[in-house]
Amino acid sequence: MIQKTISFIKELYSDQNPVPLHAPVFFGNEKKYVVDCIDTTYVSSVGNYVDRFEEIVATYTASAKAVACVNGTNGLYLALSLCGVEQDDEVITQPVTFVATVNAIMYCRAHPVFIDVDRDTMGLSPERMSDWLDKNAEIKSSACFNRHTGNKIQACVPMHTFGTPGHIDKLQELCANWHIELIEDAAESIGSFFKGKHTGTFGRIGVLSFNGNKAITTGGGGMLLFRDMKEGEWAKHLTTQAKVPHRWDFNHDTIGYNYRMSNINAAIGCAQMENIEVILENKRQTAMKYKQFFKNTEIMFFDEPADCMSNFWLNSIILPTHERQQEFLTVTNDNGVMTRPVWKLMNKLPMFSNCQCGELENAEWFADRVVNIPSGFRISN
Ligand SMILES: *Cc1c(COP(=O)(O)O)cnc(C)c1O
Repeated sequence: MIQKTISFIKELYSDQNPVPLHAPVFFGNEKKYVVDCIDTTYVSSVGNYVDRFEEIVATYTASAKAVACVNGTNGLYLALSLCGVEQDDEVITQPVTFVATVNAIMYCRAHPVFIDVDRDTMGLSPERMSDWLDKNAEIKSSACFNRHTGNKIQACVPMHTFGTPGHIDKLQELCANWHIELIEDAAESIGSFFKGKHTGTFGRIGVLSFNGNKAITTGGGGMLLFRDMKEGEWAKHLTTQAKVPHRWDFNHDTIGYNYRMSNINAAIGCAQMENIEVILENKRQTAMKYKQFFKNTEIMFFDEPADCMSNFWLNSIILPTHERQQEFLTVTNDNGVMTRPVWKLMNKLPMFSNCQCGELENAEWFADRVVNIPSGFRISN
């Protein structure tokens, strides 16, 4: 089965050897717009591409406002700060995620709490979170507190794993009931929709990443998505050193950040967004080929949940056992097909090993079995 899979993948990506997990593609106006930045000298913090890119992404995601920033990790940190996460607060997230989610929580000097994921989405489980809150939390003067630690549970950061939308409607309701701020780590899920609504637009703030390995890239970059226009405008002010606009005066009205995306990065982003439908359709077709290939085999293709549209950023397969996962990883990587396991669970990393956790059965189950297979844009057939 492994040899058959290797042949199948090599045929899908016959123009690439070895076959990478995910490579960016630039077949549109990327070069033209970057040259334009250089020709006009607007390569840095001044220029039109940033505003244009923000408008394109706001329209695409149907957000009230989108604010570009230097990367997704910083975007998450800013989102947490805007949602009032402070030292010693607790922030609920999932153990199945990229380390950046948890690092952003740590930058606030807050404490992550790891709650299990669902088997159908690999995203934060509303049922598990609800159980954990029933056991550990209480509401006092319109805020949520941990009864055991006494800390405030200020925010929740679910992540749409590999582009698969999580049960975000239920999480939204749960967070509202418990007075917890909802921030979506949508770093991997541009182009993924939950019941027709773009991921990252359910929470108070959503964060996208445009790192080189994501479905759409700006080289490096991120975007904050806001439901509230005013909050978005405030965020933009913060990302630009909180400078009060004036023709020559230097006036800053609060402590700001240098988090603004550069014009060059935004130029690449504008060009990429012009082709987002082509890129997503290509990735979807690859996913459907994989789905068909793994049908009636011992390997399960991880499909999009009902009523959801995944961007199929990274296609995932589930091997029957941990041993088979390890064998699959070894043989594919030895034979020129790049594959990767899911990240080591966050609660297993040394710096987060003392964090509070719920039961993590499903997370462990995925960690033992998931393999990501090549999912980038296919030029051939
Ligand atoms: C990529 C990613 C980030 C961070 O984005 P950067 O732009 O690389 O800083 C955050 N969370 C998740 C889940 C990611 O996959």
